[in-house]
Amino acid sequence: MRIDILTLFPDMCTAVLKESIVGRACAQGLVTVQCHNIRDYTQDRHRRVDDAPYGGGRGMVMQAEPIYLCWKAVCEQTGTRPHTIYMSPQGRPFSQQLAVEFSHRENLLLLCGHYEGVDERLLEEIVDEEISIGDYVLTGGELPALVVADSIIRLCDGVLADSSCFEEESHFHGLLEYPQYTRPEEWMGRKVPDVLLSGHHANIEIWRRLKSIERTRIKRPDMMARFVPDPADAKRLKKAAKLFPDEHFEL
Ligand code: SAM
Repeated sequence: MRIDILTLFPDMCTAVLKESIVGRACAQGLVTVQCHNIRDYTQDRHRRVDDAPYGGGRGMVMQAEPIYLCWKAVCEQTGTRPHTIYMSPQGRPFSQQLAVEFSHRENLLLLCGHYEGVDERLLEEIVDEEISIGDYVLTGGELPALVVADSIIRLCDGVLADSSCFEEESHFHGLLEYPQYTRPEEWMGRKVPDVLLSGHHANIEIWRRLKSIERTRIKRPDMMARFVPDPADAKRLKKAAKLFPDEHFEL
């Protein structure tokens, strides 16, 4: 998969993308991420890429032409028209489901706005959809683009050890993940739950599933209300909950 990021601050993006799991995935060629400086495509002799808004008002608006030329250069480089996403607080809320959907695409282009945003005509001309990372306003689209890129890259083949790494995580199946523990067995008088030390893999699997449901109900009742359990699984869990009488699992 290839992700192209169009930005006025490419260093901000490359600094993050070269680190950790995402950095390794890029270095190993599992994904390609290219950051493009929109300013390199301005034809203004002062390298300006923004101007005052028509109709007056505060702030500056990013001009259409430099972004369009940058986008066209990416289309030529990749030999395709990438699915083009404008990072915007007005967009569709981002989610794990969208990350999965985007991870199946060969090419994705993320456009980062700045200042008051981007000339509307450019959005009409090249953008396929607008995506928001939440109902708040940031100074630019770089952090949102990095959030989106990171969540997609970790889903790509070979980036994590195997798909169970993300399939068991929060949000993948509409629930939050179970609690995690590591050494030592006791810390500040708090013990790791016995079942996790038992080596009984079937009981561990059931306990984690029950915990996952319990904490989703407590932390995210909105998610729980949307969760539709498989009837056979629900029956199995109800029976299995009796294995852990001290936990008082509600099902
Ligand atoms: N004037 C715009 C409005 O009220 O809708 C906000 C512009 S914002 C200051 C500058 C840029 O940051 C946007 O063009 C967008 O690319 C990015 N941005 C800000 N908040 C965002 C969010 N919640 N999700 C995605 N992108 C965001």
